[in-house]
Amino acid sequence: MRALLLVDIQNDFMPFGALPVAGGDEIVPVANALILRSGLVVATQDWHPVEHGSFASAHVGASPGDRVLLGGIDQMLWPDHCVQGTPGASFHSALDVAGIDRVVRKGSDPAIDSYSGFFDNDHRTATGLGEFLESHAVDEIVVLGLATDYCVRATVLDAVGLGFGVTLVTDGCRAVDATPGDGDRAIAEMHAAGVRVVESSHV
Ligand SMILES: [Zn+2]
Repeated sequence: MRALLLVDIQNDFMPFGALPVAGGDEIVPVANALILRSGLVVATQDWHPVEHGSFASAHVGASPGDRVLLGGIDQMLWPDHCVQGTPGASFHSALDVAGIDRVVRKGSDPAIDSYSGFFDNDHRTATGLGEFLESHAVDEIVVLGLATDYCVRATVLDAVGLGFGVTLVTDGCRAVDATPGDGDRAIAEMHAAGVRVVESSHV
């Protein structure tokens, strides 16, 4: 059984959002087209409490882009984003949410971030996504979303580690590229881990 996994297609990651990803809105039509062709569709949603530990604003004197230890893990600090219940945390208004079978929220623990849809960054706490997919006999997932070099990368590498076959849809992803080339390097890393890397027309 194959499932489509949409990563964090939320307003705050759009070009108009609090943590803008260039071209983030361009992936919405790609997602909608694949939703129509997929039997099981799961979406992750970054879902932070106010003053989440990944926010620069939660650390005295810190700015976005600084790094701290959070839960014992090296953590990039971000602008406040995807705060629970705010418009920024909502899915893009053009996303076909009626076609989503299950939403998995992550990043709710203020003391640790969760780039991956499967686990918090310390890999100690699971979100339930893996169990949900296994309960539906999913063995292969098609992944797209935001951002290539953070939450997509972490989700994909965890999926590989859990034994899922993974296809990454390149035109359905955009990168933060905090350092130029981060997105391309993340795709190369996923490919080297055994991920099938294709454009949506080849899914
Ligand atoms: Zn976040």
